[in-house]
Amino acid sequence: MVEYPHRRLNILTNEWVLVSPHRTKRPWQGQVEKIPAEILPEYDPLCYLCPGNERAGGHRNPNYNSTFVFENDFAALIPVEQPEITEGTPFFQSKPEFGKCLVVCFSPRHDLTVPEMDLEMITRVIKAWANASAELSTIPQIKYVQVFENKGAVMGCSNPHPHSQIWSQSELPNEVDKELKSQQEYFSKNNHLLLLDYLEEERKSKERILFSNDSFSALIPWWAVWPFETLVLAHRAVPNLAALNEKEIRDLAEIYQKLTICYDNLFEISFPYSMGFHQAPNDGTPHPEWVLHAHFYPPLLRSATIRKFMVGYELLAMPQRDVTAESAAERLRGLPGIHYKKRNQP
Ligand code: ZN
Repeated sequence: MVEYPHRRLNILTNEWVLVSPHRTKRPWQGQVEKIPAEILPEYDPLCYLCPGNERAGGHRNPNYNSTFVFENDFAALIPVEQPEITEGTPFFQSKPEFGKCLVVCFSPRHDLTVPEMDLEMITRVIKAWANASAELSTIPQIKYVQVFENKGAVMGCSNPHPHSQIWSQSELPNEVDKELKSQQEYFSKNNHLLLLDYLEEERKSKERILFSNDSFSALIPWWAVWPFETLVLAHRAVPNLAALNEKEIRDLAEIYQKLTICYDNLFEISFPYSMGFHQAPNDGTPHPEWVLHAHFYPPLLRSATIRKFMVGYELLAMPQRDVTAESAAERLRGLPGIHYKKRNQP
């Protein structure tokens, strides 16, 4: 693999990433992140996501014992039709946005993150996402459903109780719009699927693949920007979570568990990240070009306390990384498959 500065194309967004492998040796004198406290109670009486507790606006959580889905009390989008904005000029364009935002608690346990859950629990989380997505998709105005999880305070997660969010909306968000165009263009030109052809090449090369089962693969994409960014790809042209069968949901749960254990084991901490699924648009037309996938964007770079910042050049010019995708994949592949907390138990 090349050791000199080069750029790599992200085929999903059609944007370039600058890779500078020779830079990893430079000294670090910047910010050092504090390691968050590891010990949380199973139940926190002050947590607004724990069972039986009160949330904002006087809502009280039921005494749930599995996953728990509710409408976000501080939603970024609301299911109310707004009038078309007519006074826009080419310089001041805007459009109303209709939407609905949900919160999905993974389990009643305040202290149990995905890498510490068993497969049964993770399967229930995926089913909750699939069912909620399918339900939101029946709302005529909803064109897109975004499932995502912010894990860790460093990613701006406001509550450590393991949960995720689902934002659904009436227009396509920017990232999905770019991915749709790339996948559609490739499909109409080649009569093949962009992500399935890409996966085949990755599986041939093996350099960036972390692990696979019958239905999904986890890999560090060729164009990764974040140090340990990964892509979880379905092995067939499945448009969304609701279209997965029982076996595929189970296989996805297994990959989700393996990947998050791998992440926690890297620096032996609860590893922070933003992750989310890209599902096909819900615009009333079939999407034979789309392959369901998840992106994981973890901020940590060289240790539990050193994070990557997207600043300066990245904000003003283009994304840039020092560690290559190949060396990040090698590092993750070399980690034990058992969670460090379970390994260190007597
Ligand atoms: Zn995507």
